[in-house]
Amino acid sequence: MSRPYYIAGNWKMHKTRSEAAELAKALTAQLKDGKHRYLIAPGFTLIETVAPIIAGSNIRLGAQNCAPEEQGAHTGEVSVLQLKDLGVRTIILGHSERRHVYKEDDALINKKVTLALRHGFEVILCIGELLEEREAGRAEAVCETQTVKGLEGVAAADLDRVVLAYEPVWAIGTGKTATPEDADGIHAYVRKVVAGLYGDAAAGDMIIQYGGSVKPDNAAQLMSKENVDGALVGGAALKADTFVPIAKFG
Ligand code: PEP
Repeated sequence: MSRPYYIAGNWKMHKTRSEAAELAKALTAQLKDGKHRYLIAPGFTLIETVAPIIAGSNIRLGAQNCAPEEQGAHTGEVSVLQLKDLGVRTIILGHSERRHVYKEDDALINKKVTLALRHGFEVILCIGELLEEREAGRAEAVCETQTVKGLEGVAAADLDRVVLAYEPVWAIGTGKTATPEDADGIHAYVRKVVAGLYGDAAAGDMIIQYGGSVKPDNAAQLMSKENVDGALVGGAALKADTFVPIAKFG
């Protein structure tokens, strides 16, 4: 079992095309000699701008969401077919902002996960508890439910295209980070849940990223933990000056 470190940047609803192009160019140049796996997920309208800049580099092209259906009357949604057409290879699903601001539930997220996998994408499935759930001692249970329901119907053969991202909601964009020990504990627990579903070997190979106020000064410590296999980065992914040191930790 040897898992590569995988560092992903979620640009959320930030940047215009020219700003996105500038950042993508800087990252392509500065991560050229990086030794981990990398991904950036620009907003939908930026994907066509960013795609040719990172083509052929060691940075994968990601999207932040997709519709639960292939096509049809879904005003305002973006389909897997449209994302594939743009060269997107990975889709982030179940981000806490989708779950808690846009009220996506586990069933909807699961529909998106299975659709994206069926279309050959890699999926980053985000899980994580709210502050009140943590304080009530329910962090593990919440993450277990989100993992089990998110992966419902996913074949073992497709599991190597699933990455989990543990993102405690109270740590996202707040400057509060889970301690490396807390993160490692949840990651280990979730890995056990995956082992229960798919066996020890598949669980051992599964990449589990941590997300929640990852910064250049805490990245190495978080990723020194046995079960922390990378990071899903929000705020610090918006500038090369902060993303590159995270991406090149170690
Ligand atoms: C995120 O949105 O996935 C995230 C982890 O954000 P931040 O790094 O800003 O906390």
